[in-house]
Amino acid sequence: MQVDAVKRGSYDRQIPVTVRNEWRGAMECNGNGLCFNFDARSPMCPSMKITRNRIHSPKGRATLTREWLRLLSEQGVDPLQLEQALPQQGASLRTLIQRTRNSWHAKQGEYDFSHEVKEAMSGCLACKACSTQCPIKIDVPGFRSRFLQLYHTRYLRPMSDHLVATVESYAPLMAKAPKVFNFFLKQPWVRDLSKTHIGMVDLPLLSSPSLKQQLGGHPAMNLTLEQLEAMDAAQRENCVLVVQDPFTSYYEAQLVTDFVKLIEKLGYRPVLLPFSPNGKAQHVKGFLQRFARTAGKTAEFLNRVARLGMPMVGVDPATVLCYRDEYREVLGEQRGEFQVQLVHEWLQQALDARAVQTASGEAWYLFAHCTEVTALPSTPNQWQDIFARFGARLENVNVGCCGMAGTYGHESKTSKTHWASTSFHGIRNCRSCRVNAASQPASRVAARLNVLKATACAIHCKRCWK
Ligand code: SF4
Ligand code: SF4
Repeated sequence: MQVDAVKRGSYDRQIPVTVRNEWRGAMECNGNGLCFNFDARSPMCPSMKITRNRIHSPKGRATLTREWLRLLSEQGVDPLQLEQALPQQGASLRTLIQRTRNSWHAKQGEYDFSHEVKEAMSGCLACKACSTQCPIKIDVPGFRSRFLQLYHTRYLRPMSDHLVATVESYAPLMAKAPKVFNFFLKQPWVRDLSKTHIGMVDLPLLSSPSLKQQLGGHPAMNLTLEQLEAMDAAQRENCVLVVQDPFTSYYEAQLVTDFVKLIEKLGYRPVLLPFSPNGKAQHVKGFLQRFARTAGKTAEFLNRVARLGMPMVGVDPATVLCYRDEYREVLGEQRGEFQVQLVHEWLQQALDARAVQTASGEAWYLFAHCTEVTALPSTPNQWQDIFARFGARLENVNVGCCGMAGTYGHESKTSKTHWASTSFHGIRNCRSCRVNAASQPASRVAARLNVLKATACAIHCKRCWK
């Protein structure tokens, strides 16, 4: 580029200041290219690593979004006004016909720059590595959701979006008869139908036995919020409230059961909170209005629980971090001050009085959750400290991202591009990683332990360390 050429600033200034301020995530990328990272051990932008295509990097997505905003302003369209008008619009036959017509024209090859932005956004895993690893914290999932919301006011959504966004409505119902649904989910014709007509592959199977069956009759189950509120101070003492999420409660119930047992083993009283949808999947797919409603209801519920003064702990890191990040973003002050701890955060407090022991035996290896480790870099060290309190050695393995975050590994378009991070014997602290491991040949993936089981094991029995 020549010194006197028209540069990026000239184009950016064509976007109104109000829009620039509101879309800071895309505007503030300084273009240094640190996100063009090919180190497989680094979590920074797996989609860039996999595709080696710059439009699939945070910089690429920010650049395309800025150009999209500029083109909108050139045509006199204000994206902020469009966003503000959305709650009043609702679904109508007229908009459905318009979107169907636009989608049909798009299929016939009618050009719209927003398809290029959509293409780049569809490759994003929403892993949020950019929101912490980029030097100026460019949060692609944040402006990606806003883009998708506006894009789909003009174009129809694929069926898979609806399926993903409603997972928290149908999973609790399906979990009432997991064997029946798993029977159908395993059928080759259902899998083919899902691949060709819905665009989803490797549909996850429900936990069987379900969480309710696993913990049937356990005192941790079936306490309502009203019953919790009626408990006196002595009854509340030592209680630990487990905040449910759809991914572990319905698809990895054993993990929740393990955590409940671990809490008991440590001398506390576990209580499973009634399930309240988190909305993470709605946010990822850009159903932002629905997400705001879900977040509002769940924040109200969790604030009510928080007033009881008992620790709340969530098993799935991505869901817990959503309460801290996306909830604050969408609800602002109305989010309230409730705190949901991650498992290792609670364990650190619970084990504070316990002395560190001399490590012995074979080491455990931790493949930390990429979203968790980028948002909270001290996580692996904290897990090491927890293991050390039982004389167990834990080594952290930098494995980057498995390439399965969100629904990436389940969508037909992108599922071929994920990879198993490593063939190590290890503890996987991430559901997507575990699913990824399960879809790989056994020779590549030696172990699929979860970190809670490993912790319980370390606490329980040194002979199990191998
Ligand atoms: S690392 Fe961040 S600021 Fe730098 S080019 Fe990538 S997105 Fe832009
Ligand atoms: S969320 Fe992950 S995949 Fe998407 S741009 Fe950021 S780092 Fe890349």
